[in-house]
Amino acid sequence: MMVPWIDLTGRVAVVTGAASGIGRATAIALAGAGAKIVAVDRDLEGAQAVARESNGTARSLDVADESAWEDFATWIDTEFGQLDILVNSAGVALKDSVGDPSVDTYRKTFDINVAGSLLGMAVALRFMRRAGKGTIVNLSSTASLKGNPIMASYGASKAAVAHFTRSAALQNARSGHDIRINAVLPGLIETAMAGDFYDIFEKLGSADGVRSAFTTGRPGRPEEVADLILYLVSDRASFISGASIVIDRAASA
Ligand code: NAD
Repeated sequence: MMVPWIDLTGRVAVVTGAASGIGRATAIALAGAGAKIVAVDRDLEGAQAVARESNGTARSLDVADESAWEDFATWIDTEFGQLDILVNSAGVALKDSVGDPSVDTYRKTFDINVAGSLLGMAVALRFMRRAGKGTIVNLSSTASLKGNPIMASYGASKAAVAHFTRSAALQNARSGHDIRINAVLPGLIETAMAGDFYDIFEKLGSADGVRSAFTTGRPGRPEEVADLILYLVSDRASFISGASIVIDRAASA
């Protein structure tokens, strides 16, 4: 009998930002490996569509809303009694610039991209510590690796996500629990958000030139990122924690 290389049977996997792009592809990939999917998004209809595709459940949640996370934690406990996998994919890419700093853009971006991930991790870690095991993947970005003339808040938020990931991974590895936390740093991936990036590239005045600085040949597909996440949340990646893994076909190499 063939033993599946990755088997997530019996695991409850919460995917935020599941209505679209990388989150959607991840929910479908994890379901394919046997996980029970909870598709979370502020776009409930989109989450419901993905829940249907992944034979899972949908929940409406604004990841920046702390009390909504508390209600969600209570619901998960009642419904499943466990939370084994969290993928924090919900995020926004807003335009701003260092030359024309916008505290407003910084606050909105950090509220969703950084606080949203931290709140999700805090809830997930309660369940994981209770069980003594679990795994989290946070979506950072190669935008965190270099300066960017008009997306400073976005890049800074993704650098913060990667840093919090490392710190949380270290803390949990030292606690003796089998809890692994990793960050994935995609380059340009063809999703709804890529449309926002293209708009920003246009505003920089040279869409193709700037685009080629972010990709080598082609943008990635959300399914390619989902496959990496699938591996990271599986027992196959049992010695990987605190890592920041770039997936960009050498664009930032
Ligand atoms: P996307 O726009 O296709 O999907 C993002 C999802 O997040 C949407 O369904 C949206 O409704 C949801 N969302 C946004 N704010 C939310 C909130 N406050 N609460 C709940 N849901 C919310 O984007 P994507 O390309 O799939 O991006 C997924 C993640 O990957 C993001 O964190 C993004 O920053 C990161 N990323 C994307 C790229 C890329 O090129 N697409 C590259 C690097 C990193």
